[in-house]
Amino acid sequence: MKFNSLLNLLLPNKKYSANIVANEKINTQKVKKAAKIILQLQSEMKDYIAQGSGPFLAAIYDEKGNLIAKTANSVVSEGCSNNHAEVNVIKAAEKALNTYDLSSYNLSLYVTSEPCMMCLGAIMWSGIKAVYYSVPSKRVEEITHFDEGFKPNWFEEFKKRGITVYGNIAQAEGEKVLKSYVADGYTVYQPER
Ligand SMILES: [Zn+2]
Repeated sequence: MKFNSLLNLLLPNKKYSANIVANEKINTQKVKKAAKIILQLQSEMKDYIAQGSGPFLAAIYDEKGNLIAKTANSVVSEGCSNNHAEVNVIKAAEKALNTYDLSSYNLSLYVTSEPCMMCLGAIMWSGIKAVYYSVPSKRVEEITHFDEGFKPNWFEEFKKRGITVYGNIAQAEGEKVLKSYVADGYTVYQPER
């Protein structure tokens, strides 16, 4: 095998992993696998948005790569402020596996944007073991003006609790979808303050 093709197998596509952040030593195989899933979510998100969902899509997979659940944000379409993609997908996975504690299943949650302050709590109580996200909250707020809340030191806090976190995966592609959501004039909701 030529060195270059070997390198390609070992390293994730640079384009999708330019500024990855993580709460462990970066594992390129995990990044590569996550980039594939997240790019797929980003491409599907346009269809979810066209059907009335908010611009966030999440999926939960087991360690063998089986999809357990996939849901979008449904705050506006279902009239509920806590129907974020991550909360919806955790509920769907727990229903599918008939449990309120996912910790023995070694599940990973993939999501198109960094979880907000509410979703961090939902993830912690669910027993999810790893989180992979695309667009960081700062960019979500700059592009869409959604409020993501305050999240002091959550990478470290998750690490203490045995939850792996990787962020900024395929970020440019994720930002494109958020920008088109805003450009197309869809709803950005947040309580008045
Ligand atoms: Zn959220």
